[in-house]
Amino acid sequence: MKKANSKGEKLDPNPKNNCGVSSKYCSATDATFKAKDLQWVQCMSCDQWFHVWCVRLNNRTYKEEEVFFCCGADACPEAIAGLNGEVYAKYVSRKRDN
Ligand SMILES: [Zn+2]
Ligand SMILES: [Zn+2]
Repeated sequence: MKKANSKGEKLDPNPKNNCGVSSKYCSATDATFKAKDLQWVQCMSCDQWFHVWCVRLNNRTYKEEEVFFCCGADACPEAIAGLNGEVYAKYVSRKRDN
């Protein structure tokens, strides 16, 4: 039998409501962001969506000429940093400083 989700998280049927960063590292789950219109970016390889905030610590949309990969040989450093929790750690320490 196939497991529905290895992380045991409840997935929204709309992929755009699931940030590719694990919920542990998704800063957009913070209540501060609930009212904000968060921007998303999609991996050009696996079609996974990410909050721009979760990979860049800002809410600026990607420009058309910018590429975004979360996986494969062309994975963006910011995507890797988001996935391994570095971006979230930065966000947390920034919050602490304020
Ligand atoms: Zn996120
Ligand atoms: Zn990907």
